[in-house]
Amino acid sequence: MVLRQLKPYTVLITATGETPITLVLHPTLLGVGIALLLGVPAAWITALTWHNRQLAHHNDTLTETATEILTELEVIGSEIEVLKNRAGLPEEDAWDAVTPAAQATPQGGVAPVAPAATLLESAKQKMPGLEATLSTTVKPALEAQLASEAQQKAAFPRGKPLAGALQISSEFGLRLNPFGQRSYEMHDGIDFAGPLGKPVLATAEGVVVKADYDSGYGNHVRIDHGYNYETLYAHLARLDVKLGDRVRRGAVVGYLGNTGRSSGPHLHYSIYRNGQAVNPRYYLKLEDTE
Ligand SMILES: [Zn+2]
Repeated sequence: MVLRQLKPYTVLITATGETPITLVLHPTLLGVGIALLLGVPAAWITALTWHNRQLAHHNDTLTETATEILTELEVIGSEIEVLKNRAGLPEEDAWDAVTPAAQATPQGGVAPVAPAATLLESAKQKMPGLEATLSTTVKPALEAQLASEAQQKAAFPRGKPLAGALQISSEFGLRLNPFGQRSYEMHDGIDFAGPLGKPVLATAEGVVVKADYDSGYGNHVRIDHGYNYETLYAHLARLDVKLGDRVRRGAVVGYLGNTGRSSGPHLHYSIYRNGQAVNPRYYLKLEDTE
């Protein structure tokens, strides 16, 4: 309304010797022109600023994500160290694979694009190393370690050589000579009284290194379990294994008897560790956890 009351502007452009050019500018058109001249750059600047803010936000998010990825990689690296330790592999003095170079190097300028890109590049470089360590070093070592432990566990004498409740007739250690002489002897095992013919069971996996008769132990079986463990089952009525047989835990090695230097039907059971007889009491209590 105000513009309508204004008179048009007349601009006269003259040059010496030339016909003057007269421009009549209507206020409304002038207003539109000024608005366009000022408004378009303003809108453009606003749009640019908004766009830059979006970019900055995007870059911040990217940097955050990259940092998270690197942190995760660091955690994975530590977990791999734990697995290596479990697998019996030597520990590394410094696992420096995860410290991003971007954090160590001072970054100039204001653009947050560089750190994110550097961090992501750093993460990308760490990945194959971690993967290779896991698949070529840790995994095989861990499998071998677990297999060895399973073998060792199977070789460890556990539980009872006879089924059912045990009736101990003579403990491990010094005892009076059971054959009436007034002297002490070292009893290097435990005797279990039982009915003739009751199956006698191997208490761990191993190889039969003796399946024989002698005047002392009568019919007896000795099993080498590896890992410096051996067990002996003596005074058997009959043997059920022969030299060189591989037996599993719980396998019948023979039958309870009264052969050799024996004062009645019983099983003499010995455990040897590094060639020395140990008290089987502790091993008897170990339950079958398989
Ligand atoms: Zn005995």
